[in-house]
This record gives sequence, structure tokens and C-alpha cells, in this order.
Amino acid sequence: MSARSWQNWAGNQHAFPAKRAEPRSVDELRAVLAGAVARSRTVRCVGAGHSFTPIAVTDGVQIGLDSLRGIESVVRSADGSARVTVLAGTRLRELTAWLWDLGLAMTNLGDIDEQSVAGAISTGTHGTGGRFGGIATQVHALELMAADGELVQCSRAENTELFDAARIDLGALGVITRVTLECVPAFALRAVEEPSTLRATMADLDATVAGVDHFEFYWFPHTDRVLTKRNTRLPGDAVLKPLGKVRSYIDDELLSNTVFEGLNRMVTRMPALIPRVNAISARALSAREHTDRSYRVFASSRTVRFVEMEYAVPVTEIGWVLREVNSWLERSSTSIAFPVEVRFAAADDIWLSTAYGRPTAYIAVHQYHRRDHREYFDAVEAICRSVDGRPHWGKLHSLGGDELRDTYEHFDDFLRIRDSMDPGKLFGSEYLERLLW
Ligand SMILES: Cc1cc2nc3c(=O)[nH]c(=O)nc-3n(C[C@H](O)[C@H](O)[C@H](O)COP(=O)(O)OP(=O)(O)OC[C@H]3O[C@@H](n4cnc5c(N)ncnc54)[C@H](O)[C@@H]3O)c2cc1C
Repeated sequence: MSARSWQNWAGNQHAFPAKRAEPRSVDELRAVLAGAVARSRTVRCVGAGHSFTPIAVTDGVQIGLDSLRGIESVVRSADGSARVTVLAGTRLRELTAWLWDLGLAMTNLGDIDEQSVAGAISTGTHGTGGRFGGIATQVHALELMAADGELVQCSRAENTELFDAARIDLGALGVITRVTLECVPAFALRAVEEPSTLRATMADLDATVAGVDHFEFYWFPHTDRVLTKRNTRLPGDAVLKPLGKVRSYIDDELLSNTVFEGLNRMVTRMPALIPRVNAISARALSAREHTDRSYRVFASSRTVRFVEMEYAVPVTEIGWVLREVNSWLERSSTSIAFPVEVRFAAADDIWLSTAYGRPTAYIAVHQYHRRDHREYFDAVEAICRSVDGRPHWGKLHSLGGDELRDTYEHFDDFLRIRDSMDPGKLFGSEYLERLLW
């Protein structure tokens, strides 16, 4: 491998950029862009490389923002919330710990916290909670460097159309340099995890999603078993009862990562065992409860490599979608060892948000990185598409501009903003050509 070769977290995307740059200031960034223009090279930014698609891939200049990290300012309000401006390469993991020390928190997060702030918002990264939006909905203002090197600011009060486009922009409008986040007073989460059945979970779904701050569940394919997770928000000074080190090691490191890796290796050789293994795994799950700092409960570590596809569907359709996936699995010879993850989000107003304009349920399907995912993902995609499903921008899918235009009311507005920010497609790529036309 050459020094410049790059691959994403899952190892399913590779790039051989002509140049790799890691600017330490906006002036250095401007010089990198000017150099790329002079050599007629395209540019793509990369955060933590946690997207499953080729969205960060380039054969031109790859810009890493790892040297542009940290909190720049905190502006507090009387109610305890604050607007926190961070450099775009800041990783969520470091940010959430710093925020806690400032008595603050991000109001919702995804499953992991390895991502950069800019990378997470650019693809619409989200967590769960029927009253909450994804990470981009927490953005108050953005600063981007456009293709000509000019720094442009946008917020709800300034350059409002750019703001609507740039909060989830697939890295297509420019280089995000600073992000101002609306942060809330630090809070704790009480997590209750319990085994249940798909039938019982679906029967109470509306009430559960409405009544629990952050609800999600994992369904074990080829069985009726699920694991539900209910996270309830508590004040930041609530008594914390974190999982003991031993329990957390056994549950999160050993069972979720080490044993799961071993099981995946085994069923890769003997896929016929999967339905039995899933039934045993689902029954072996026991209930657990703990209370900890919010960011520690939201995020966990994932060491088993997989590829993933996730679709956002209208929340009213999730029951039908799961039944269809189940009946496809019953008809098909494919067997799936990874649980299917189901999450929820409130409607939002970001042009390219998967939750734009409608309360949303997410269905995420995974496949071990050594197994073929295509037949399974194609089938789930067709089911989700039949109810106007929208694919996660950082996860695998097969859609192009035609289908995306049909589902996003502001798709052409987004292209118009792109044309004005980047008329020469400096931030273009082969992959974006498929999506944005
Ligand atoms: C194990 C795992 C768990 C995950 N869990 C979740 C989850 O719970 N919820 C969820 O929604 N997603 C999840 N994801 C997907 C992930 O959050 C997104 O793919 C996210 O974009 C990754 O952030 P990153 O920093 O790695 O960005 P990258 O993948 O490196 O880049 C993503 C995009 O951001 C652009 N970009 C990066 N920095 C800049 C910048 N400064 N300016 C302009 N554009 C920029 C890139 O060009 C690219 O288009 C998960 C992924 C993995 C591998």
C-alpha cells in the first residue's frame, strides 16, 4: 500500500488520492484549495472514515481535518443551554467529554462517537428518539470555505438557504471549517435494556415511541425475539449507577464484540446454523439497567467489522416494512446473523435530511464484512423504497439522482446552491456524480 492509500472503517472503500493534505489553519486550507484548482484536481474532505459508501473517496486531493479540532467559544443562555463553536475536525468523543466538564451536552447522539463533527452532520448522522432530530438539527451556524477560498457563514438568520442546504451537504458545497452547536445542560440517561418479542414491541410501538425519550430495538432475524433499549433523560446531577467494569466488559467487549466476532466467523463457514444461533443469542440476553452520563450511554464501541445499509421510512410504515423483511427472509435462502436495528426521529426541515418533513423510523441492516450483503440489502432496499424510503447518506444504497429527486422536495434547490458555491465542481467525485445531477 502506498503512503497515500486510504480505506474506510469497514474496509469496503479504498482511495488512492494524488495528494493528502492536513491543513492546520484556514489559510493553509485556502492554499490547499488553490493548489488543487491550479492542478485541475478535485478535492474531498475526510473525517473519521466511518461512512460505508465512497462518499469520501477521491483520486484528487484528500483533506483531513484532524488538525482543526477543539472548542473555540461557548456562549451561555440564562436557561443553562449554550451555543458552542467547534472546529470542524473535532471528534464527537472528545467533544462530548469536554462539554460534560462545561456542564453541557449534545441533546442526541448516534451509536458511536468516533466521527468528526463535520463528517457526522454532512451525512445526516442520527440517534433515536421520537421527539429528537439527528445531529445536524443541533447545528446553529456553520462556516464553510467555498471553492474560491472565501469563508462563508450561514445560520437561520444569515444566508438561510445555504444553511438549509449545508447542514447535510455530503461534502459537496465546500469545506466546513467551524460548526456552532446548540448544546443543552448536561444530563444523565437511565438505560433499561430488556428482551421482548417483535409482536409485543410492535403492538405498543406508538405509545412507547411517544412516551420514552430515546427508544430503539434490535430484532434478531429468523426469530420473533428483540432487545429493547429505553433511555430516559435525568438531570445532570442525578445519582449515576454506571455498569460495573466487569459487567460492562462481559456485555460490551466480550459478548457484543469478541464473542460476536467469533460467532460471525463460525457462521460465515456454516450459514445454516444462523437461525439457531440467533435464537440462542436472543434467549441468552438478560435485562440490565444503568444510569450514566448521557454521552456514555448513547455511544458504545464496535469492533466487529460490518457493512451497513439504513433506510428512513415514514414511521407509520415500519410495522409493514418489518413484516415484509421477515417474509422475504422466510422465502429466501439467505440467513442473517446481525440484528436489525430500528430507531426513530422527529420530522425536521433540513433539505437533504432523511427525516425531512415527516416523523421517521429507521431500519438498519448489517452484514459481516466477510459475507456477501448484496441479495439481503437489495431486498430490504426494494421494500423500503416501496414506501418512499430514503437511504442514509453515509451507508450503502443503490439510488441515483432520479430517485433522490423524487423523494426530496428541495433536491433541485440543493443543486442550485451547489452550483453557486462550487460552479467548477472542485468538491466533486465519481460517486457524487451518481447522486447529484
Ligand atoms: C460502526 C459505525 C457506527 C455508526 N453508527 C451510526 C449511527 O448510530 N447513526 C448514524 O446516523 N450513522 C452511523 N454511522 C455512520 C456515520 O455516522 C456516518 O457515515 C458519518 O458520516 C461518519 O463520520 P466521519 O467523520 O467518519 O465522516 P467521513 O465518513 O470521513 O465523511 C463523511 C462525509 O463528510 C464529508 N466531510 C467530512 N469532513 C468535512 C468537512 N470538514 N467539510 C466538508 N465535508 C466534510 C466527507 O467529504 C464525506 O462526504 C456509523 C458508522 C459506523 C462505521
